[in-house]
Amino acid sequence: MEVGGIQALRAWRKQQTGTVSLVPTMGALHSGHQALMDRARASRDAVVTSIFVNPLQFRTDEDFFQYPRPFQADLDVCEAAGVDFVFAPALGEMYPSAPEATVSSGRMGAVYEGAARPGHFDGVLTVVAKLFTLTKPDSAVFGLKDIQQFCLVKRLIVDLNFDIELIGLPVVRDDDGLAMSSRNEYLAPADRAAALAIPRALDAAADAASDGSPVGVEAAAETVLQAAAERGDLDLVYLALVDATTFRPCAQDFAGQALLLVSATVGGTHLIDNVALEFHRSA
Ligand code: AMP
Repeated sequence: MEVGGIQALRAWRKQQTGTVSLVPTMGALHSGHQALMDRARASRDAVVTSIFVNPLQFRTDEDFFQYPRPFQADLDVCEAAGVDFVFAPALGEMYPSAPEATVSSGRMGAVYEGAARPGHFDGVLTVVAKLFTLTKPDSAVFGLKDIQQFCLVKRLIVDLNFDIELIGLPVVRDDDGLAMSSRNEYLAPADRAAALAIPRALDAAADAASDGSPVGVEAAAETVLQAAAERGDLDLVYLALVDATTFRPCAQDFAGQALLLVSATVGGTHLIDNVALEFHRSA
């Protein structure tokens, strides 16, 4: 396994005669990231994992400096997953100066997670575009945990004509149901117990959706989250049932693929999760 910055990546890429898959990450790798690398490994000749905490997607009051960076442990995870090249550029290599030319994430980047974190998705799409340009991958693997990010990367590929197959993998959860996240490290044991209201709310919504109708689905999740908020366990940032392709709210007679999006802060830690639901209009 090779590890390097931009120059080393370009030299390595030139030598590749087979297909390449890219797994972008910010490090602090867990089983969710590992699933992405396994998928990349299984489908392409060579795998690049990028480890880069991208300042452009953090607001100044967020956790950029605090974000965990267990670099050696991350390299061990990559090695075990059969990664061929770990792209770990220095900050000054990726951004020698504050960029003037960036990617704008538009309407879909300004709602929900984009409203909670203004500028976040512009920063994400800018770094993803840079990673695509530098790596020239045949495919890229992302997690559906960050579903709004996934949908925006899909649009980035279409709108900016990247010739890249986009692969999305389901949310990997801990045994207690909490979606794995590098930020779970911030949670004290009591916060972690409180955070379980999020997967419980998603389960309640999935139960309510089992009749194929969106009626009552958001309310089922809201009941669980509201009870947790009243106990002082969490602060709900947003809860929304949206059309999976447009990210617009679902009407009561919506039919098709939908997403229930949840974001909450628990003990100051920002958590997101979602569940995909399918509705058919009742006769
Ligand atoms: P991050 O390092 O948090 O920027 O995430 C890098 C990639 O891993 C993104 O595509 C995430 O969606 C994905 N990812 C993070 N956590 C999970 C999870 N629990 N299950 C599936 N994918 C995940």
